[in-house]
Amino acid sequence: MKVLKFGGTSVGSPESIKEVAKIVSNIEGQKIVVLSAMSQTTNVLHQITDAIGASNFEEANSIIDMMIDRYKTVIEGLFETDTVKNTASAFIEERFDFIKSYAHEGSVEVIAAIEKIIVAQGEILSTNLFSMYLNEVNTAASLLSAFDFMRIDAAGEPDSEFITESLGEIIAANAATDIFITQGYICLSHVGDIDNLKRGGSDYSASLIGAAIEAEEIQIWTDIDGMHNNDPRYVDNTFSLKEISFDEAAELAYFGAKILHPQSVIPAKEKNVPVLLKDTFNPDSAGTIIRNCTVPNKVRAIAAKDGITAIRIKSYRMLMAYGFLKNIFEVFEKYKTSIDMITTSEVAVSLTIDDDTYLEEITKELENIGSVKVDTDLSIICLAGDFSQQQKGASAAIFSSLTNIPIRMISYGGSNYNVSLVVNTEHKIQALQDLNKGVFENN
Ligand code: ADP
Ligand code: ASP
Ligand code: MG
Repeated sequence: MKVLKFGGTSVGSPESIKEVAKIVSNIEGQKIVVLSAMSQTTNVLHQITDAIGASNFEEANSIIDMMIDRYKTVIEGLFETDTVKNTASAFIEERFDFIKSYAHEGSVEVIAAIEKIIVAQGEILSTNLFSMYLNEVNTAASLLSAFDFMRIDAAGEPDSEFITESLGEIIAANAATDIFITQGYICLSHVGDIDNLKRGGSDYSASLIGAAIEAEEIQIWTDIDGMHNNDPRYVDNTFSLKEISFDEAAELAYFGAKILHPQSVIPAKEKNVPVLLKDTFNPDSAGTIIRNCTVPNKVRAIAAKDGITAIRIKSYRMLMAYGFLKNIFEVFEKYKTSIDMITTSEVAVSLTIDDDTYLEEITKELENIGSVKVDTDLSIICLAGDFSQQQKGASAAIFSSLTNIPIRMISYGGSNYNVSLVVNTEHKIQALQDLNKGVFENN
């Protein structure tokens, strides 16, 4: 069994939905097709909840009406027969009426819960339309509700045991089905409320499903021909990598390579299920395979993650006392805030976080331990590759590329697969471009 995930752009128009149907039909054997919402849908659903949250019900309703028009155009372009067009229209009207039913004063106090219900509609719409399309072109498929098997626990982590068990039962009960279709991104919480796996979470859904069923392969179909060596949004002349290891891919995803959700490599890696990144709009290009492989001894790819806050805690003593680090870590543990990078000197520790929800509380408590300095608007630049052996010249190439960029922190040696630097976000694009020249183009 294979898992095939198609992202927002891949299902973003009637033409691309038809392309997806072709790709799915051309892949042999049983498969689970995981779909994102059509491109921009999740963003617009967030705008609707924002309007409701601000009591701008008129605005919410007018955005909903615009969405209805957009989906009606999709229906016109996607389906042939009037009967299917009518069924699809009735379906989207029913979904948008449901969203409209929240556009009133009473919703404002419970907006956090309603937001999750509303943003879930994007994947419900795309999977239903795709399923109706396959039906119209006489391709047999079963639509599964992600709510029947995708669940997170009280800590917000995927409940792997539940997912494996429920999905196993569903598949066993439908042994003759070749194509299953289901929603990415959405799930239920441990108490059964509608929830999601955070932005870009359909990749994570695909990986969790692939791991749960121990799939032969997980394919992530998107709008680019695989993992590039640098961020193509900011750097010219990037190229697709043929093969990368799970560890490299996990580092790159975690540190900002938008092609993959930050956590999405982990379930696949744990079950050793290869992940193939493919281009929906150029299906013949090889893409990138992520699997257990030995990595050439050099820098393979660069990614950057914004929204980083650095905190420096300087010991009140002349030297760091025994227990200093433990006391610091306990503060972060108390506020469930994970630390991405850490560097130390004999008197001070610098560390970075990307979730600043409890920054004020954390800073206050750290001030009992030492003097605290907070810097915001930073980016982590991650260089992934094999750094496990003494690489002559690798770090020299990295640092000599960055002579014009002030570096706030450096982490080297924490893992075998990564060197990370922290810079001001205003210098990020220049740093990515300079590194591209120094590390890839000059070699
Ligand atoms: P999808 O909607 O299919 O999930 P995303 O927009 O989430 O697609 O991810 C694909 C995008 O990721 C690409 O269009 C590209 O701009 C961006 N991207 C950022 N870094 C990389 C990288 N290193 N390799 C490939 N794509 C990247
Ligand atoms: N539709 C969701 C989002 O836009 C999930 C995804 O596309 O992966 O974040
Ligand atoms: Mg994505």
